[in-house]
Amino acid sequence: MRHFAIVGSGPAGCYLADQLQRLAADAKIDVIERLPVPFGLVRYGVAPDHQSTKAVVRVLDKVLGRDRINFVGNVEVGRDVSLDELLRLYDAVVVATGAPLDRRLGIAGESLPGVLGSGAFVGWYNAHPDWRAAPPAAVRSAVVIGNGNVAIDVVRILAKEAAEMAGSDIDPAAQAHLAALPIAEIHIVGRRGAADAKFTQHELAELGTLARARASVAEGATLAGDTPELDVLRGFVAANAAREPAPVSIVFHFGLTPAAFVGESALEAVRFSRAGGGTVELPAQLAVTCIGYESVACDRLAPSSGRFANEDGRIDEGLYVTGWAKRGPSGTIPTNRSEAQQVAKRVAAETVDHGRAGAEGLAALLAERGVRRVGHPGWRSIDAAEQARAPADRCRHKFDTVAAMLAAIADRS
Ligand code: NAP
Repeated sequence: MRHFAIVGSGPAGCYLADQLQRLAADAKIDVIERLPVPFGLVRYGVAPDHQSTKAVVRVLDKVLGRDRINFVGNVEVGRDVSLDELLRLYDAVVVATGAPLDRRLGIAGESLPGVLGSGAFVGWYNAHPDWRAAPPAAVRSAVVIGNGNVAIDVVRILAKEAAEMAGSDIDPAAQAHLAALPIAEIHIVGRRGAADAKFTQHELAELGTLARARASVAEGATLAGDTPELDVLRGFVAANAAREPAPVSIVFHFGLTPAAFVGESALEAVRFSRAGGGTVELPAQLAVTCIGYESVACDRLAPSSGRFANEDGRIDEGLYVTGWAKRGPSGTIPTNRSEAQQVAKRVAAETVDHGRAGAEGLAALLAERGVRRVGHPGWRSIDAAEQARAPADRCRHKFDTVAAMLAAIADRS
């Protein structure tokens, strides 16, 4: 029997487990996760009102429930077990820890209250235990920096009224906070032109369907070109000519590079330098930077340029990487599936049976250290408790602390 450890239970880790098991009939796989709950970015990054995207957890959950695949939750590599211990216990270790750190702009005022990275903001409304601090309450104008689909998610969640979140699993306290914001303007700002934006047609068009918000394009923007996204933006402009203003306006700006966050003790405005010269200041009590993510160290293994240096998924003898930790923060959930096929092929081909202790060795080590590990049945108890406590118009009410998750297991066992 060959023993494999995968660190991280997001889509990259789960797809890798799936592919590895298909390729290697003698594989025993532990999927190690620092939280008691699996699925990483699907649970904590995908927007709570995009439940059809989140439905992939049914597939991933089946993988974690298979024979010869173990979910090992509530175990942090670097805290409860070291990477070198894993390398001694398993025949191969695959890092699938994603890119959880917000990239920073590195401009003046970035630490002002009211300036948040998208990981912090999205983590907050998705009930991530690490991100419980609420954004400011008196937000009339918000600036969202970046022209990718994360920026579109953030704009939509800020712009939707409470009723439009029906059926979602947004954190109820975050929802109440958002509903009470006196928000009237949301500016979404790209540093390049409209034709260079990375958001996609479907996600962009959704902003034209919101109950209380109207999307428009700042004066002077060039919308020439032939892309489906430019068609949608031109459609926003054309539709607005015939309509009354709405309570919330969403304004797209292009060609503005962030120069400084301005404010005395809290954010008051964001200053941009304009392509072609000059500066522009947009008033804002909240700014969310949606400019990408970086990996964090996995114990002694440090990322460089935001991800782990690798050659087609191989880091070192017996050590591999997949997902955003391998390639950086790009691509959709299915991208991880096709990548997992490639990485699993390599891992399966290069790994020999060393007669190592694998899962049993890890279990003994964790028991010796008094670590409370959560298995697949434990996660299923948390899952059932979260669904049972959901209000009528929600599909789930997530626990937002590790202690509450562990208590839910105790209550149901
Ligand atoms: P992204 O698509 O790479 O967009 C990042 C944006 O940040 C780009 O507009 C980029 O501009 C801008 N940016 C980067 N550095 C900047 C700087 N220093 N100053 C100003 N702007 C800067 O990344 P993302 O939106 O974080 O999304 C990550 C991945 O998840 C993407 O593949 C995305 O499609 C996917 N995703 C998909 C969905 C969905 O399908 N519904 C939802 C969310 C996320 P430049 O182009 O000029 O570099």
